[in-house]
Amino acid sequence: MPYQSDSQEVSCAGRLIIDLTALQKNWRQLNERTGNGCECAAVVKANAYGLGAEEAVKALYASGARTFFVATPEEGRLVRAAAPQGTIYVLGGAYSDRGHLYAESSLRPVLGHPDEIAEWAQFCESLGTPLPAAVHVDTGMNRLGLTHAEARDLSRDEETLSKFKLCLVVSHLSCGDDATHPKNQAQLEAFRSAADLFPGIPRSLSNSSGIFLGEDYHFELARPGIALYGGNPIPTRHNPMACVARVEAEVIHLRHVPPGETVGYGAARTTKRPTRIATVNVGYADGMHRLIGSTDGQDGSYASVNGARVPLFGRVSMDMIALDVTDLPANMVQRGTWVELMGPTISVDEVAESAHTISYELLTGLGARYKRTYIGSVQDEEDT
Ligand SMILES: *Cc1c(COP(=O)(O)O)cnc(C)c1O
Repeated sequence: MPYQSDSQEVSCAGRLIIDLTALQKNWRQLNERTGNGCECAAVVKANAYGLGAEEAVKALYASGARTFFVATPEEGRLVRAAAPQGTIYVLGGAYSDRGHLYAESSLRPVLGHPDEIAEWAQFCESLGTPLPAAVHVDTGMNRLGLTHAEARDLSRDEETLSKFKLCLVVSHLSCGDDATHPKNQAQLEAFRSAADLFPGIPRSLSNSSGIFLGEDYHFELARPGIALYGGNPIPTRHNPMACVARVEAEVIHLRHVPPGETVGYGAARTTKRPTRIATVNVGYADGMHRLIGSTDGQDGSYASVNGARVPLFGRVSMDMIALDVTDLPANMVQRGTWVELMGPTISVDEVAESAHTISYELLTGLGARYKRTYIGSVQDEEDT
């Protein structure tokens, strides 16, 4: 079934077009890469990296994903509605005194501290049911997770382990996107020795980048996020993932600016030649970060007009961006022409780099003003 939202509605906002077929293709590619012995989950925290958890989860479930990771129980509740049969883990763990949020939506906390584990065990005891949960062991991130000694103590604490159902041992790589970083191997070894304390319990170490570090890192469950949404999991190599999110803006104004004039706030960029400036209707309030603009001293990001790259000219405003379209034929850029600011030509990683950030922050910051359209199919081919 083609899936499209409000496509008939008249809009004057920028467009955010989300390709669910590309999302499904990316999950299948990762699932293939993780192989037979390893389940490929999907991390859908922060509203599926800003792209819409409900639509993303339905599409991912249809392509075969059965396990989902979110950050909070509130996110978990929304994912539960989209995947009634799915397994849902909450990476932020079990918040104090809010066990009912997990029980109501059948969410599994990823427990990362002895006190938290004791609370969860007690909560399960009060319900009279050993509810499932994962345990996070720290292997060098020092953010969440049990120390090795704490993991060892837990593994010997039969009473606590009898009160809840331990169903996954998790850790997280801090440098998975740098295949040459020695910390990866160190974390791998630390994870193995911690997981050995819980024989027979499925293990999960890898995020998107970790999957590309090789089979040793796969274990029984992989947890990709950014690669599903088209971000490059191996930054030094060609991006193997399909583009999922495309940001488009409409040209609302065109003008000729003589040489020696400045364009935009701060008079930061000066014309060196007779310049044709096209102003488009998306700005930093839409998550097109102010740092992607250009100044006389520093180039910025690009836009694409039908595949032809044109530079951003001057600073990014809240609601507008100026483009230098001098080099394009006049009839190619007119009022009402749509340009790509991020998508198949100007990749999310390229825009993120111009903004001195990463694809993750760019996607999750895309903002509420866009007219969002979902294209592609959410149906499983096997069902049709
Ligand atoms: C966000 C997150 C992931 C997904 O990471 P990506 O780099 O987006 O693939 C996996 N595991 C944990 C613990 C996370 O917080």
